[in-house]
Amino acid sequence: MFKWTCPSCERTFDGPQCIGSHTRHCDVTQAEVFWSRVNKNAPNGCWEWTGYRQKFGHGSLARVTPGQKPRYILAHRYAWELLVGPIPSGACLLHHCDNPPCVNPGHCYVGDRIDNAADSYRRRRHTWGERNSSAILTSADVLEIRSNPPKPRARGAVKALAAKYGVSPLAINAVLSRRSWKLI
Ligand SMILES: [Zn+2]
Ligand SMILES: [Zn+2]
Repeated sequence: MFKWTCPSCERTFDGPQCIGSHTRHCDVTQAEVFWSRVNKNAPNGCWEWTGYRQKFGHGSLARVTPGQKPRYILAHRYAWELLVGPIPSGACLLHHCDNPPCVNPGHCYVGDRIDNAADSYRRRRHTWGERNSSAILTSADVLEIRSNPPKPRARGAVKALAAKYGVSPLAINAVLSRRSWKLI
């Protein structure tokens, strides 16, 4: 069962949805809430996010900036920005440890490779084989691909783009659906 203790006032709560409403009234900071939801005793030195996880296992949280709508960001990116610094625009933050919910910055690295749209697709890589796994799209390529997207379900068109840029169809789909290169 879900249990969360506020690191500031030490009140306990039994539902993740209580956290957001509590933090509006408590002077706990978002960073304190973040670390209270990280398990630093996971195997292999991983720091696992215990909150919401996306489809491929990456932790996700709403970042609240006063006066703005909450924005969903990835937990490992948030941890990196807290402990290391800003992530360059358009860059991916990848895992060395192959454990998507891990937020340990020591297990992450900044990469600009689009191959498989970052490590979240590693599990599906076998579908396309290892070919082109070192191919890199540039931001100009991404803009060009998006400026003239193939029609939905046009499988041949995605394959043709993949061949043109020397990457996997998965990488093209990731660009088109903005699972990668979100900042462009
Ligand atoms: Zn509190
Ligand atoms: Zn890790």
